[in-house]
Amino acid sequence: MVIDDHFWKPKMQLWASTTINDVFDKFEGKHKASVEERARNNAFLNFNQVAEGKVNTGKHVGFPWFDGLVYETIRGASDYLKHIPDPKLESRIDHYIDAVGRAQNVRPDHYLNTYTQLVEPGHEWGENGGFLRWQHDVYNAGMLVEAGVHYYKATGKTKLLSVAVKLANLMTATMGTAPKKNIIPAHAGPEEAMMKLYWLFKEEPDLKKKLEVAVIENNYYQLATFWIENRGNHSGFPLWAAWGNEASEKWIKDTKNQAKLVNSRPTWGNYAQDSVSVFQMPTIEGHAVRATLLATGMAAAASENKDSRYLQTLHRWWNNMVGKKMFITGGVGAIHFDEKFGADYYLPTDAYLETCAAVGSGYFHKRMFDLTQDGKYIDELERVLYNSLLTGISLSGDNYTYQNPLNAHNHKRWDWHECPCCPPMFLKITSELPDYIYSIANEQLYVNLFVGGEARLQLKNRDQFVIRQETEYPWKGKVALTVETKRPQKLPVHIRIPGWAIGKENPLGLYTSDLNTVVKLFVNGRPHKISIDKGYAVLNQLWKSGDRIELVLPVEPRVIEANRAVKDLQRKVALASGPLIYCLEEDNQSVLDAFQFPRKVNMQLLYNSNLLNGVNTISVKDKTGKHFSAIPYYTVGNRKEKTAYRVWLSTE
Ligand SMILES: [Zn+2]
Repeated sequence: MVIDDHFWKPKMQLWASTTINDVFDKFEGKHKASVEERARNNAFLNFNQVAEGKVNTGKHVGFPWFDGLVYETIRGASDYLKHIPDPKLESRIDHYIDAVGRAQNVRPDHYLNTYTQLVEPGHEWGENGGFLRWQHDVYNAGMLVEAGVHYYKATGKTKLLSVAVKLANLMTATMGTAPKKNIIPAHAGPEEAMMKLYWLFKEEPDLKKKLEVAVIENNYYQLATFWIENRGNHSGFPLWAAWGNEASEKWIKDTKNQAKLVNSRPTWGNYAQDSVSVFQMPTIEGHAVRATLLATGMAAAASENKDSRYLQTLHRWWNNMVGKKMFITGGVGAIHFDEKFGADYYLPTDAYLETCAAVGSGYFHKRMFDLTQDGKYIDELERVLYNSLLTGISLSGDNYTYQNPLNAHNHKRWDWHECPCCPPMFLKITSELPDYIYSIANEQLYVNLFVGGEARLQLKNRDQFVIRQETEYPWKGKVALTVETKRPQKLPVHIRIPGWAIGKENPLGLYTSDLNTVVKLFVNGRPHKISIDKGYAVLNQLWKSGDRIELVLPVEPRVIEANRAVKDLQRKVALASGPLIYCLEEDNQSVLDAFQFPRKVNMQLLYNSNLLNGVNTISVKDKTGKHFSAIPYYTVGNRKEKTAYRVWLSTE
């Protein structure tokens, strides 16, 4: 798929050139002024230290999960290379890969986690009184595995894949059902990574010959499902909820308690989805990034095994998240403490909403679509993309956010963060955007996202089916699709009709809107009556070159209200147009405090090419006649260094 439009193409190019190099530069500490400070912030020094044979130095740059963040950036950059080749960037990554490989070669067993090696030797994988929830050994290894797979797919180079396979093999030899050890990732993510490694070798068995290490791909699948199914299988201690984080951590590290952990392990708590078996967890709980990435890994495994326990849990969690815990921007994880999900219907306007959690939920939505081919999952993926993700980066492509509250004062982006987890996650999901636009499942085509460009789609035993999409979405609602095929071919084409466009703001009634117009669909200029099946209008006909589908979605401004069960959002409204959520932004907080959304309102959608790289504004007058101009939520914080903004507006 080649993206060629006015909205995404310039953004993708900016992120591919500016953002990726900015993130690598900052991981090298290049944003710091002095030589000493640069060294103190250079995460690559960790790999160099380990490669030089240093252990137990007590010195490590950044948090224990920095290895993982570097690998995640490599994964995201790899996927950008697939679409936007850049030899200079590729050689930059090769240089990093060499450093990672050198660090791994120090140990004959190929174990690698720079934090544990430099600061906590002997506590590999959190064993022997180690604290895995902090050390991130398994998480980092998982991120290395996915980076190896993605970099191979982008470049055909096997060097990082070899490194990844060696570490994966060490994990499959170490972890699993007895007599192997009961070790699970205390931060989810490795589950999906292992599924990707398994699928890669299943799809390309000859690839095994190119690696200098043994590959038994079924072991990777076995480990992924072990990690999922063994959550909740632990000693029962520490009691996180009763004792608190500090005392629990102390208990784990206390050598006196090691006897209690023979043939078992500590629990990583509800925070890490490890209190009870995931199949018994009624709702989605705990640290929101961990929870959504675990759901993503479970959905990946479920697409392989179709296990009903997995499927029931996934549907239960997704319904709980989207129906009771998701914010109007698609953000999740309401609570700052433990960065976790709140109770049902707890959706305060100043909620935490980490960018990474939005990425995790985006992956979860996409995997649920892959399992079900239901358009409601893409509706929510679209909500995440246009709102929660886009707001995570400045229009300049080199400033970021961690928290994304819906109403804020003194909102400020940062150029770098002591925990810079969000920029790598942002790169990982945005680099996959071209793959989200169309899907092929059961020999049928799904048009999921409205992004201009051309896709050459290959269905099994068929001629290539080329589809060209032209649109000014999200600024205009018209989408035109033109077909090209060598010979006429019959093919069911599913066109997504977004829930927001038909008055279904949320599939479970958490939000409603006042939109009162209809979606129009034309095939070769003739109106086509829409009947919606699982979120799609299905066109099943003989397609020939030049056939044209036109979809017209209603992007006029709409007013959204939250379900009455949401106490924090009573007598408040949010504005939207198409997939975009809007907000009012002011330098002065008091202007927003005084604003009341009028009972009777006349709103206008106006395109302003000089504002924020070109956006539609929604023009509103309050009851005093004062004029306000709402901007897309994703553009906040780009005009002044600090601003106040509101998505949820008080009403008269
Ligand atoms: Zn983050």
